[in-house]
Amino acid sequence: PVHSLNICAVEVVAASNARILTLASGLDDVLFEHDGQITKREVRALTLSALAPRKGERLWDIGGGSGSISIEWMLCDSSLKAIAIESHPERAARIKRNAARFGVPALEVVTGSAPEALAGLAEPDAIFVGGGGSEPSVMTAAMDALKPGGRLVANAVTLEMERVLLDLHSSRGGSLCRIDIARASPIGDMTGWRPAMPITQWSWTK
Ligand code: SAH
Repeated sequence: PVHSLNICAVEVVAASNARILTLASGLDDVLFEHDGQITKREVRALTLSALAPRKGERLWDIGGGSGSISIEWMLCDSSLKAIAIESHPERAARIKRNAARFGVPALEVVTGSAPEALAGLAEPDAIFVGGGGSEPSVMTAAMDALKPGGRLVANAVTLEMERVLLDLHSSRGGSLCRIDIARASPIGDMTGWRPAMPITQWSWTK
């Protein structure tokens, strides 16, 4: 299958370093170039499940970060399109590098801040808000832009963003999910659970 051949050109030359990507969402974080701002593997898998891509659909990934959500969206099927909106220019450049390395160079990257940067973009079937959602009118702009029947998924790490999502859940419905992940890691000679920051995820269908 084409999916398992998403190996970058440089790595094809250096075949010993070739990366074989699995078909499932939730790829290892180390496969992405990132600066710490990345939706972690387990949370990413649940987020892709909630975004529920269908053939031919277009995603807006608001606060693209490393691009991991857009990239995994596009890896689900070659018919899928994505636009990552990222305000930080260095991160926007990183999204493009990651997209090239994962074999999805068609991922569109918009360098700019939501909500202004959303104006004029092709209509989305699904939207993920991974950053900027607590800034004024980002959520309303996203919800307005979404196609009827489209899905919106937003993740909150901060209390400020969580408050926005709790209010939206009260006023607009949808569903809330709390994701608490811990990974086992060494504590001296022994092993202990290291919790990641808990995530509040709001999913809404327009
Ligand atoms: N889902 C991403 C991580 C997102 S981190 C991944 O898996 O890599 C949140 C990102 O949102 C940061 O990169 C930050 O620069 C960006 N951001 C914050 N406010 C924004 C806004 N208003 N418009 C666009 N991007 C924004």
